[in-house]
Amino acid sequence: MMANAQAETLHFQAEVKQLMDIVVHSLYSNKEIFLRELISNASDAIDKLRFEALSDSALYESDSSLQIHVSYDEKARTITISDNGIGLTREEAMSHLGTIAKSGTREFLSHLTGDQKKDAHLIGQFGVGFYSAFMVADKITVNSRRAGMTKEHGVCWESKGDGEYVVTNIEKAARGTDVILHLKAGEDEFLSDWRLRSIITKYADHITVPILMKAMNEEGKLGESWETVNRALALWTQPKSIITDEQYQTFYKHIAHAFNEPLAWTHHKVEGSHIDYTSILYLPKEAPFDLWQRDAQHGLKLYVQRVFIMDKVEQFLPNYLRFVSGVLDTTALPLNISREILQDHPSIAKLRSALVRHVLDLLERLQKDEPEKFALFWQAFGNVLKEGVVEDFANRDRLATLFRFASTHSDSNEQTVSLSDYVKRMKPKQKNIYYITAENTNAAKSSPHLEIFRKNNIEVVLLTDRIDEWVVGHLPQFDGKALQSVAKGDLQLDELIDEAELKSQEQTEKKVKETLDPLLTKIEKALGNKIKSVRLSHRLTDSPACLVRDQSALGPQMERLMKAAGQDVLEVKPILELNPAHPIVNSLSHEQNEERLKEWTELLYEQALLAEGSQLQDPAYFVKRVNKLWMEIVDKRG
Ligand code: ADP
Ligand code: MG
Repeated sequence: MMANAQAETLHFQAEVKQLMDIVVHSLYSNKEIFLRELISNASDAIDKLRFEALSDSALYESDSSLQIHVSYDEKARTITISDNGIGLTREEAMSHLGTIAKSGTREFLSHLTGDQKKDAHLIGQFGVGFYSAFMVADKITVNSRRAGMTKEHGVCWESKGDGEYVVTNIEKAARGTDVILHLKAGEDEFLSDWRLRSIITKYADHITVPILMKAMNEEGKLGESWETVNRALALWTQPKSIITDEQYQTFYKHIAHAFNEPLAWTHHKVEGSHIDYTSILYLPKEAPFDLWQRDAQHGLKLYVQRVFIMDKVEQFLPNYLRFVSGVLDTTALPLNISREILQDHPSIAKLRSALVRHVLDLLERLQKDEPEKFALFWQAFGNVLKEGVVEDFANRDRLATLFRFASTHSDSNEQTVSLSDYVKRMKPKQKNIYYITAENTNAAKSSPHLEIFRKNNIEVVLLTDRIDEWVVGHLPQFDGKALQSVAKGDLQLDELIDEAELKSQEQTEKKVKETLDPLLTKIEKALGNKIKSVRLSHRLTDSPACLVRDQSALGPQMERLMKAAGQDVLEVKPILELNPAHPIVNSLSHEQNEERLKEWTELLYEQALLAEGSQLQDPAYFVKRVNKLWMEIVDKRG
């Protein structure tokens, strides 16, 4: 006997305890899913055995008929789920059933609110797993033995779900795992042949492993022979025409561990071309909790010739489509493929570009035929999809047609306008697509840079997501039209502006040129190296001044983002533009006191910084300056 044969009592990881409490309290109206979760684990364990046995057939121990048995005992008030899959060692039982390995678990748990409805929803995205069994059981016993080990190496794991569990060494002749649920008082509804069968057909029809229950004998009592309850067919191998929407939806819930229906799916069977494969790809309705977690695992379930190979295989989809889940079954890869070989197998690139095409086709179809669904998709995943313009150069143009933005020409602040919508509304002589970047839609809408556009009814796209500036940086044009920031370079709007307006602009400039030229020189001197230069503006109608960047410079948004990420940013000085028609500018040109001119100039510059969303170097000094100038007016009034 081994030294640690005796019982050992251990504590659950704190997160397990927390998760267990939440699952038990927020999912009580959906209790039956415990069976789905335990069957899914049993089926995973069988898949793992089948995969490991590809290179070591001795693991079958002369029993290669892989099955799951579900039974119940009315007297003992237990339900037992048995599999002859890979099994658990003592150490595995402790780590897999006593801790949660998922990255981001702690952060996820901290988002839970205590509001049962909301939490039930979040927990669905997280995946409830094994611990859901504590909804119906007040004690769970897991007897297991790892495939390939001798019968003395069995383990019994047992817990009342109260914060501790006990592990003991046991003898177990059959490999695999028995999960025995000791039902709580009041859960007797599950001690029913009919009830268990209906849950199994509801959730597990497409599980490819047979699930067996005892058959009824002639007297209508449970007999001793077993019969298969589920259909056990691989959904993706069925002809599309006979699969119902409901079957697709149930299958999604199984592979994505989801509670919700998927938003949409696409099923392809490609044979006889250069590469054979079948795929079902799903778009979820909502972002999973770990969408932005760097080390979170995403990806497809991979089958080779119907044999399950691996879960969460990332190679088949680019990162910007990481929200897609589904299955891929192919003959183009060898059965004994490992994650390492997967990296550079020549078929991967081909499969990947085919699958990307399917997802983009699906999105285009939604955009065209089901705009409400597409809007939901954009809300949940738009920011992720945008990463594609950088990651997937080849599909840049297709992706750009899917993007949605807020715009000066839509009433809401929602992202609903496509670049194609914009192009359709462009003025006859307009060559560029104009955009502005800002912290939020309201800030964008009140920016001084929009004044001339608003006055002339030229549409401007409002970019308010953190990655937008980076995205447009990689999207120089759309449909032959350049994307142009309203805050960069020397705008060439002449052709778009009303002729009379242009005339009056020219006249004002001519009139004020003599007085303003010396002012520009003085201001340039006063602001010194804070700015690159000062010039008269054609962008402003209401504001006295604004800041403009060179065409090639980073925008203020991007600059802040990069600084925040600790990157060195090459400082490019802005250009200060003055509104020649503005009374403030005009009054400045009459200011004789050099000291006061400097103060007013600084104020003008700092205001322009604030208006573009930048931070002041010395905000307290700005306040002092405003109050000082204010006091002068107060004093004058006496
Ligand atoms: P998940 O299935 O998402 O990994 P679960 O909470 O359902 O999470 O299960 C936790 C882990 O416990 C599994 O990853 C697996 O390692 C182990 N496990 C659970 N049930 C079985 C089983 N029947 N056979 C072997 N291992 C199992
Ligand atoms: Mg599971």
